[in-house]
Amino acid sequence: MSTNNYQIVKELDTRYAIALGFCADGDPDDVYNNVEDARAQNEGRTPSVGFVVIDRQTGEWADFAMQAFAYYEGALQCYNEHMEQPDVVPALLLIPLDENVALTLYHEDLSSELCPNGYTFTFCDSKSRMALVNEPSFPTCDEALAYYEKHLKAGESEDDTQVITDFSGEYGFLNNGYVQIDHPIHIFGRDFYTAEGAFQSQKCPEQADSFRDATGRSAKALGKHVPLRSDWDSIKDLVMAEVLLAKFSQNDILRQKLLSTGDVRIEPHNTRHDNYWGNCQCAECAWKKKENRLGTILMRIREKLR
Ligand SMILES: [Zn+2]
Repeated sequence: MSTNNYQIVKELDTRYAIALGFCADGDPDDVYNNVEDARAQNEGRTPSVGFVVIDRQTGEWADFAMQAFAYYEGALQCYNEHMEQPDVVPALLLIPLDENVALTLYHEDLSSELCPNGYTFTFCDSKSRMALVNEPSFPTCDEALAYYEKHLKAGESEDDTQVITDFSGEYGFLNNGYVQIDHPIHIFGRDFYTAEGAFQSQKCPEQADSFRDATGRSAKALGKHVPLRSDWDSIKDLVMAEVLLAKFSQNDILRQKLLSTGDVRIEPHNTRHDNYWGNCQCAECAWKKKENRLGTILMRIREKLR
């Protein structure tokens, strides 16, 4: 969407202005001549024509205000909110569902990391408009609403008890550094004390023996010093899945513990910017896509071992 035809109503600062504009797919004849006319015409309906916040540097709609407002005040409010909280994720659409949660539609033009497949429905906090980063996103509005009905209604969105995020204490057995001296993991023709050791050993199978008694920490350190096989990036997910299937299928106690987590989502949090295997909680990563591959593998294995 861009306004290839608009008239500036008010300059807000050196960059942004409120303009009367229309969607590129709207009817060009609908551009109104004055504020009062547009206001009267647009009253009570979603405008394809209306007041928009223009980025005068690009001539396009401002990326934080991808909608037209029926009222001048709507556009002004949008601008003011953005100035107060410039970090909020821009959304094409924002539908408040209750006092805590709003449904938002993102487009890849606005946030490619949130929606790699074009449009994506997801949730944000109604008040702050900050994304609820622990919640998944959905290709359709109906799927998002179904998820809201099941999980988010009644303000459960920030309830971490619905998600296993910390692989320590009672969930320490989920950690790849969990040491199994009495029941080593048998895989790749060897016994390993930790899943991390078994996983890292495949970075360089010729030196796999040196990983057999490694702890999680020492396995990671060692893994940085062995010659890395060239296809590592393309096989590492499979190696992780194989190792964890061995870990939980070979040991009845661990298998029972994993099954006892029921259907609770597993999503390890960290603060080291690892959004590939888990979900980094730092402010910098707030808008980044969380792949949570480790949690996903564990949930798949749980399903398989039932
Ligand atoms: Zn981070």
